[in-house]
Amino acid sequence: MAIQPFDNRPGVIWMDGQYVPWADAKVHVLTHALHYASAVFEGERAYGGVIFRLEDHTRRLQESARLLGFEIPFPAETINKACADLLVRQGHMDAYVRPIAWRGSEMMGVAAQNNTIHLGIAVWEWPSYFSPEERLKGLRLDMAKYRRPDPMTAPSKSKASGLYMICTISKHRAERRGYADAMMLDWQGRVAECTGANIFFVKDGKIHTPIADCFLDGLTRQTVIALAKKRGFEVIERRIMPDELSTFSECFITGSAAEVTAVSEIGGQWNFNPGGITKTLMEDYTAAVNPSGKAAAA
Ligand code: PMP
Repeated sequence: MAIQPFDNRPGVIWMDGQYVPWADAKVHVLTHALHYASAVFEGERAYGGVIFRLEDHTRRLQESARLLGFEIPFPAETINKACADLLVRQGHMDAYVRPIAWRGSEMMGVAAQNNTIHLGIAVWEWPSYFSPEERLKGLRLDMAKYRRPDPMTAPSKSKASGLYMICTISKHRAERRGYADAMMLDWQGRVAECTGANIFFVKDGKIHTPIADCFLDGLTRQTVIALAKKRGFEVIERRIMPDELSTFSECFITGSAAEVTAVSEIGGQWNFNPGGITKTLMEDYTAAVNPSGKAAAA
């Protein structure tokens, strides 16, 4: 089956308060966001017709915009309702939800203080980011060349489009080299995260993860930490240097898109055993996102 391009699909997109036919939800080529990356977005997932942690995603979207110096001109309730209504309108139960806010076209310089702020929301049916096979086998991660920037260099707590430039470069390079994704270090050379997911390790039955001080403290990361603690696992947030990776037995990544996915190898140097605590948390996460509260197979 031919891939359906994202600019031409059936149904509607919510744009600035209106439902518009999918193919008509356009911006002009002279849009500040396109030139200067003045855009913030979210990535959410609906399970069984319910968007997981919708309110938290909307709050983060608003906060991301504030960090870039603009206010989204719709209250959280409107955004939440638009996301939920769109899901029903498009007839999806298990889907990806993508709100994006951006600066418009009134001014086209670095300064664009008074440009109109727009908000668009699209939903689409989306299978698991990684195939179930990959998730059980564990992903192979490359080491990215780029590092997560110092929070004094970029608004690293914002889910801002501009910050994804190095993610796309790193993910493309990883794919060219035969890997599924890349692990990025931070500006100080410490283990940080992947190009669209946070990272965890296991050693002696304890879970270790980098402190989220220069990258997104993902909602999935927070959920998984809570689930792990509920199981009685110790979760240690600390600085992790790459030379320590050989001491870990398991590795997994977390994200709204990636969910909980095992890692089998990083950079051809470090190997891990998928399973164990990773498998338990995969199952717990699947149960947590299921709106009926029943555990489904991970
Ligand atoms: N880091 C990056 C760079 C991401 O793009 C994402 C996905 N939003 C995450 C971490 C995980 O965030 P969340 O669990 O909130 O989806």
